Amino acid sequence: MRDIEMAKESLSDRDKKHLWHPLTQHKTSPEMLAIKKAKGCLLTDENGKEYIDGISSWYTAVYGHCNEYITGKVAEQMQQLDQVVFSGFTHEPAIKLSEALVKILPDGQQKLFFNDNGSTATEIGIKMALQYHHNLGNDRKVMLAFEEGFHGDTFGAMSVSGLSVYNGAFEDHFIRVERIPVPTKDNTSEVLSILEEKIEKHNIAGFIYEPLIQGAAAMKFHDPEGLNAILKKCRENEIILVADEVMTGFGKTGKYFASDHITEKPDVVCMSKALTAGLLPMGLTSCSMKIYGAFYSDDIAKGLFHGHTYTANPLACVAALAGVELLVSKDIQANIQHISEANIEFCKKLEGNSKVKNVRSRGVIMAFELDVETDRYGGLRNKLFKFFMDHGVFLRPLGNTIYILPPFVISDKELSKIYSVIESALTEF
Ligand SMILES: *Cc1c(COP(=O)(O)O)cnc(C)c1O
Repeated sequence: MRDIEMAKESLSDRDKKHLWHPLTQHKTSPEMLAIKKAKGCLLTDENGKEYIDGISSWYTAVYGHCNEYITGKVAEQMQQLDQVVFSGFTHEPAIKLSEALVKILPDGQQKLFFNDNGSTATEIGIKMALQYHHNLGNDRKVMLAFEEGFHGDTFGAMSVSGLSVYNGAFEDHFIRVERIPVPTKDNTSEVLSILEEKIEKHNIAGFIYEPLIQGAAAMKFHDPEGLNAILKKCRENEIILVADEVMTGFGKTGKYFASDHITEKPDVVCMSKALTAGLLPMGLTSCSMKIYGAFYSDDIAKGLFHGHTYTANPLACVAALAGVELLVSKDIQANIQHISEANIEFCKKLEGNSKVKNVRSRGVIMAFELDVETDRYGGLRNKLFKFFMDHGVFLRPLGNTIYILPPFVISDKELSKIYSVIESALTEF
């Protein structure tokens, strides 16, 4: 009887009883939309309404949802080996994935440490930088980060992030961090002198940065040459370079990794999100032999004593491997190129609009600001979100920033629809 009663209620209503959602103030945002199905670039809700996934479900499902190549590989793996301890054991999916990734990672990345998500990937990147110096007997305990960066929600990751809504309540418990502004075309020498001062005053172990594009800071772009100069200065001062490519990795900027756009290469790379193509959760932190070498010792305590139970889960490894195979394929590379060009064309069109500023694009990522003041989670943002959803497009504006990051497999028709709904929003607001 109770089951029948329950069945009459919508999923959205039943959700309210027991579920607590991420990044949500439930008092002001009580409604969750129930999604029943996802295929390719489309999400379908419980009433059958379809939405084009304009942000690849938070930058994960870049080869489309329920991609049959990937689900097929995972289904096969499920019959073979589901899970095994990765301490003392190894398996082919992890080995094959490491071989495939080392080929596409920025030069010098040789060793892969598995974890569960983007936050743990950066957490381990931070630990690698700190313990590298600890193992060498250097007194360096401070991390360097960009203002407004976002690196995740665990304590280390949160400490180096600069967004107060996320981490304000925990400030007293942060690891030590110094922050510098991101480089723009005009401020690089200023940023470099701030950096020099910080290097002189603090014993900096590592620099964690989102290369070229800060995702959570509302797709804020910074200057490649400026970044390169900062990285060079850090390297000269033995500061470990930790590139957080959780958002930018796997083709989104038009190259395999955002670090590929600049000459100074990272010592450590953090990966997640599109790593597993939106199918399963997993993170990875890779590093160079220089880093690995500082942990390789007869002394057990010099090892990296960090491990998650599901480390290198074979199903997630197979999903990731299938994703990499698609990424390097001619078809996907051509699609990325095609979307990049379409974005550039759309940007040109937007630039003539007086309601719009800071129009920018790199690879499949395109963003701009509406020329109005509003707060990050304010009324305008909610109205825009609703407008897009009512028109069948899932975009998640941040404050007055509208951005897209469509799956690489999006059709011309779907992409045009995203653009035209954005244009209608500009007329409407
Ligand atoms: C999303 C994100 C993270 C955190 O990843 P989670 O999987 O959500 O923990 C870290 N860094 C960047 C740049 C991100 O975009």
